[in-house]
Amino acid sequence: MRRKIVAGNWKMNKTLPESVALAKDLKAVLAGQCLCGVEVVVAPVFTNIYPVAEELKGTGVAVAAQNIHQKTSGAYTGEVSAPIAKSAGASKVILGHSERRQYFGEDDALLATKVDAALAEGLEVIFCIGEVLEERKANKHFDVVESQVKNALFHLPASAWQNIVLAYEPVWAIGTGETASPEQAEEIHAHIRKVVADKYGKEVADEVSILYGGSCNPKNAKEIFAKPNVDGGLIGGASLKAEDFKAVIDGFKA
Ligand code: PEP
Repeated sequence: MRRKIVAGNWKMNKTLPESVALAKDLKAVLAGQCLCGVEVVVAPVFTNIYPVAEELKGTGVAVAAQNIHQKTSGAYTGEVSAPIAKSAGASKVILGHSERRQYFGEDDALLATKVDAALAEGLEVIFCIGEVLEERKANKHFDVVESQVKNALFHLPASAWQNIVLAYEPVWAIGTGETASPEQAEEIHAHIRKVVADKYGKEVADEVSILYGGSCNPKNAKEIFAKPNVDGGLIGGASLKAEDFKAVIDGFKA
């Protein structure tokens, strides 16, 4: 089902006590508030998934991993697999984030295997796509996101799309304070939905949630979330303070 989702990507921020404190703050600011159908997700670092998930139990806030390895177990020093992340309390995983692509060389072929590993374990995948500035300037952004979706996700059967959420994140807008305009977001989200529809049909495409990410904050969230093909946000910087994150979630309120 197409859902409204606001997911906070804490990236490599917050020690264990700081993560628990942020989860407590989030619990406090959301207590008694109507989430009004908006799903809230937070993604701490691996070591903090368990305590954050424990802290948020019963609140309805879901916990995601920021990455997983494509194998389930074995001699892969330093890695964390889907079953391990799930056993710590993650119900979702962010895959394909531009920082994973840029700094860790993750390409579409590898990401396709990570998607399979996540889905096999019952983790919902928040799959990130988006162009770099040069590609936007060269008017290649539509083609870039199309090939990212095709290469990493088009091997999946239609039924698997129930557990896929897409996050369009223009790389030039991530952590830069520069945001895609609501119109730019809407135009490319509509394109992404059409790409999915052309392969899987309108019914599947209409059900996929497509989040916007890239310097989304309390000031601009409302206008961006108001666009018909924007189903929420993947939030970096503004998810690191509970009040700011709540204000982004409130972007869905009338
Ligand atoms: C992100 O990294 O997913 C992100 C959107 O970051 P920021 O909100 O800080 O731009």
